[in-house]
Amino acid sequence: MFVTERTYDFKELLKCNMHTHSTNSLCSKPEMVFEDMVREAEKIGLETLAITDHSDLGSGIDVVANADNLRERLKALSSPVRVLVGAELSAYGIGKYAETRERDKALDFASYSHVHYHLDYWEQPEDRSPRGYAKHMLAVLDELFNTDRADCIAHPFSPGKMKFFNEEEKALTLASITDNELGDILEKGERAECAWEIHTPTFLTFTDFSKRLFNIGKEANVHFVIGTDAHRLEGLNTFRYLEALENVIR
Ligand SMILES: [Zn+2]
Ligand SMILES: [Zn+2]
Repeated sequence: MFVTERTYDFKELLKCNMHTHSTNSLCSKPEMVFEDMVREAEKIGLETLAITDHSDLGSGIDVVANADNLRERLKALSSPVRVLVGAELSAYGIGKYAETRERDKALDFASYSHVHYHLDYWEQPEDRSPRGYAKHMLAVLDELFNTDRADCIAHPFSPGKMKFFNEEEKALTLASITDNELGDILEKGERAECAWEIHTPTFLTFTDFSKRLFNIGKEANVHFVIGTDAHRLEGLNTFRYLEALENVIR
């Protein structure tokens, strides 16, 4: 389900930060206390803040129970910020999900990672070349879009976590995805009512691919959202990226 309007204007997109981690994610800083995140979002002037804590197999973390808890705490804040309590869910292989559909649907915002290849339980392609990974990523998304699970794709196609690849191989992975393949999967995601995250760390690193993702996505009329993958309070500020993001698509 789409939770934000379709726009290609970064000034609009930056009003929403759709990828942030609270202390319920082991990787975030102790300062990422939910109440402080909401107050910081107010200060920055965000319209929407999505909390997307990790759901990993075997982590023992119950994202649905945590979300219920945060929603209770949100009531006490009466904040003007629209806060969506979601999760960064795991599509860890073709048709493989760490949560049931029912639990996914109990969240305000289900953002799926399909690229956490550094994790032990993540499915790896048989062909471990850059093209092999590209095809695997496309196949995982294709199968995911046969379901109504995903509201968003977190850091789409990001090779950032492919720690077994050097920088050249990471770039090759992205370059080996053709414009047609990209267009087809973007369209299928839109039909499945799934948005695509402009993940600032990835978008500003792999700029050749980012430009293709943005332009082909715009042609296909997809929904984009911005996410900074914030693990500390100052990381909640999206607005600082305006110029850098505009430079990528120029
Ligand atoms: Zn991630
Ligand atoms: Zn994340």
